[in-house]
Amino acid sequence: MVRTIVCKKDGCSGNEFHIVTEDGRLKLTCKDCDSTYYYDVSYYEFMMLSNCEKCGNDTFKVFTNLEKQGLYAKCTKCGSPPEKVFIDDEGVQVTYEAKLLQDIKHFMYQIDQRICNLEIKIDGLEKGQELLEESLAYINRYMSE
Ligand SMILES: [Zn+2]
Ligand SMILES: [Zn+2]
Repeated sequence: MVRTIVCKKDGCSGNEFHIVTEDGRLKLTCKDCDSTYYYDVSYYEFMMLSNCEKCGNDTFKVFTNLEKQGLYAKCTKCGSPPEKVFIDDEGVQVTYEAKLLQDIKHFMYQIDQRICNLEIKIDGLEKGQELLEESLAYINRYMSE
């Protein structure tokens, strides 16, 4: 169920907010009355910035998805989400592209490790095969003597 976040202050039913991410929390400031609200967004691996990724507008309608515990914002002018920055493994802020690249690199490294392990195993098998052949040759020679 998706719910639009509406300002709870008496006499105000504003549903447009300025957003700022502060210490893993999203701070919403009502455009009409300046009331502020905090929402925990520390489970996101990115940080929402205060402006729209497309048009740069800084007011958003904010929605919560009760089942998925999600919180998302849409620009009041064009409907796009706010610009995001991602936090990499070292805690440094990076763009989405940089984060993606890093994830791919990490993935490639894991694949590389697996191939390496496989090669070691194959190598071991080949050695075992050689040993077996040598033993058989030895036994053959022994039997024919
Ligand atoms: Zn308000
Ligand atoms: Zn926009």
